[in-house]
Amino acid sequence: MGREAGSVTPNPAGARPAPAPTSEVSTVLTFKHAIDRRGVELRFSEKPDERIRAMLKANGFRWAPSAGVWWRRRIEGTADFLDALRKALFVGPPRPDGPCWRCKAPAGFFRPRGAATPVYCDACDAILNTPDPTDLAYEDACARACGL
Ligand SMILES: [Zn+2]
Repeated sequence: MGREAGSVTPNPAGARPAPAPTSEVSTVLTFKHAIDRRGVELRFSEKPDERIRAMLKANGFRWAPSAGVWWRRRIEGTADFLDALRKALFVGPPRPDGPCWRCKAPAGFFRPRGAATPVYCDACDAILNTPDPTDLAYEDACARACGL
């Protein structure tokens, strides 16, 4: 008598707080890229696996140990490569590189054009890539609106 189970004595083993939500996505490799006149630089959150390293090398990237980055001089085709890299890393849909220079839509992506790398949304990029006579009216209207 007098013993009430579990009334007083704390039981540390049983009273553990619920485990924190497992936000451990550290196994997912992420990267940042920088593009300037000297070329393209990629900085990974951790060492890429062999598959990714092979992909980098196949695309002309070289490891620069002093800087801790992968880089290449060629900027052309970088947007395509980054898309492929994102897919290879399973980091979800490509994140926009910035607002569209043309219509200011938020989801713009780098569109390498020779030496320049403008940022356009998919719609503008499609329009700019397909000079279709039926789009000319729209082109003109947009050019006036955008002040191009
Ligand atoms: Zn646009």
